[in-house]
Amino acid sequence: VSSATLSLAAALISRRSITPDDAGCLDIISERLAPLGFRIERLRYGEVSNLWARYGDAPPLLVFAGHTDVVPAGPAEYWASDPFTPVVRDGFLYGRGAADMKGSLAAMVTAAERFLSGARKCRGSLGFLLTSDEEGQAVDGTQRVLDHLRGRRESITWCLVGEPSCEAQLGDTVRIGRRGSLNGRLTVRGAQGHVAYPERADNPIHRSLSVLDELCRTRWDEGNEYFPPTSFQISNIAAGTGAENVIPGTFEAWFNFRFSTASGETSLRARVEEAFARHGLDYSIDWFLSGAPFLTTNGRLLAATQHVIHSVTGLTPKLSTGGGTSDGRFIAPTGAEVVELGPNNNTIHKVNERVAVAELSILSEIYERLMGELLAG
Ligand SMILES: [Zn+2]
Repeated sequence: VSSATLSLAAALISRRSITPDDAGCLDIISERLAPLGFRIERLRYGEVSNLWARYGDAPPLLVFAGHTDVVPAGPAEYWASDPFTPVVRDGFLYGRGAADMKGSLAAMVTAAERFLSGARKCRGSLGFLLTSDEEGQAVDGTQRVLDHLRGRRESITWCLVGEPSCEAQLGDTVRIGRRGSLNGRLTVRGAQGHVAYPERADNPIHRSLSVLDELCRTRWDEGNEYFPPTSFQISNIAAGTGAENVIPGTFEAWFNFRFSTASGETSLRARVEEAFARHGLDYSIDWFLSGAPFLTTNGRLLAATQHVIHSVTGLTPKLSTGGGTSDGRFIAPTGAEVVELGPNNNTIHKVNERVAVAELSILSEIYERLMGELLAG
């Protein structure tokens, strides 16, 4: 087990697949999946390479999702060894993407190889949804593949995203959702004038500060069992002409909500707009939702994941909604149950990124047992 997963992970790391360049990783994976009976579709959109592979036709459909792209390594001299030359030292496989997430990709592929060559029949379908654009714009990747599937009415029942989720040891944390992210760009209009004659001007800075202060002090919600309370943060403020004696005519601010399922996009927008309207401001806000929150708290996928982790590692995983965004934000709105489970994330995006060799084979075993638990007839 370990050697097959380790050598595949190493082969992937040796491809310099800096986002959005796949650099041949999907070729390597396709060549492994095709002989197992997967139907392979390579979907290229712009610079981005995607792969949709499906074994079987019947529902339910269990999908393993992930990305072949990596973030840049930075100056190679900061690394103890070349970031694109995989090396095993002291029980760890080193290289850019080892943890995020070529190790997981290798574990998924070898898990499928063992599951499909085993004695148990696959009663549903097994899929792989892989992209080379998760670390970058994430526009021509998973979202576009999902559009393609939607056009064919192909729907995902369960999705395991292999993002590195664990904190100290493999199996200690499973991600069951993510917070939403909502951006607003505010413009408040006043009337420009001389600071010595404020009665002839209308200062949009003064008008805006009290409303923004109110928004900063607002308790948006209390969070819930799985999410912390929603947070409101101002990231940029701009106003003023550069002169000391001019009241500016406009005021601009950017702000962001990281919000839980205890609040929704519509209610947050309405509460902000209400505050500005109540203070009588002449304002406009351009809203942009970069991701809706999602949460999988019950269902067979999560139950099976918890059960398999416990039987393989003895651990009871913490259910977390922490961290940044992942492509799970695109998959969950299709109605799929989404869970994220991958190796330790303590070296991701850093120099000397690594994954424990022993954990690669444990991860592959967990993935294989998950296939068995959900799909074996
Ligand atoms: Zn990742």
